[in-house]
Amino acid sequence: MRVTKATVHRACAVCERTLLQGEYALRFSPDGVEFVDVCPLCQDVALDYGWVREGGPTSPVLTPHGRRKRPRWAQLLGAKNGQPEPVVPEPLLRRLSDAEAALVEAADLFNASLFLRTVQGVARALGAPLVSIVPLSGVTGELVLTFAWEITWYQYRVLPEAAQPVRLADRGADISEIEPAFTEWNAALDDDGRIVPNIAR
Ligand SMILES: [Zn+2]
Repeated sequence: MRVTKATVHRACAVCERTLLQGEYALRFSPDGVEFVDVCPLCQDVALDYGWVREGGPTSPVLTPHGRRKRPRWAQLLGAKNGQPEPVVPEPLLRRLSDAEAALVEAADLFNASLFLRTVQGVARALGAPLVSIVPLSGVTGELVLTFAWEITWYQYRVLPEAAQPVRLADRGADISEIEPAFTEWNAALDDDGRIVPNIAR
């Protein structure tokens, strides 16, 4: 059993129960980048979410620099080779405004990321999420994707120009915690398991 420094409070990322000092926790990665603690009772749920169990006995070394290699588990999870289908066919894309096209691009980037598996996994357990895609004001071109169910929500930032364009920004356990700016639900998880903005449906 690995002993983890527990000076700060650790909580199970699934049930959010605070783990006791020295309590055994499994390490899972929802996104292939960051690892979180999961209590033993929740390990099946984590697997069901599509989270990846830490493989070795040591902590993962997270390199802050450089591009991450294509994760080994992408294959194990049966990730499709190549690019996923764009959510909007080319002729329609040309008719969209710049603002609309930015939403479509953010959806495509998200659909190409491993985070989609987290959302699909939660949707299998809790049903279809409420989804919003909101551009942030400012020059970065960053957008925020929010996925909400009654009892959990995830918020991702999409920065199209970045080497790693999608990252988990925030999450919580109560839909009422989400800032109102992000609760105009303007997208959906479609039957194919992709995020599609309403303008493209
Ligand atoms: Zn738990």
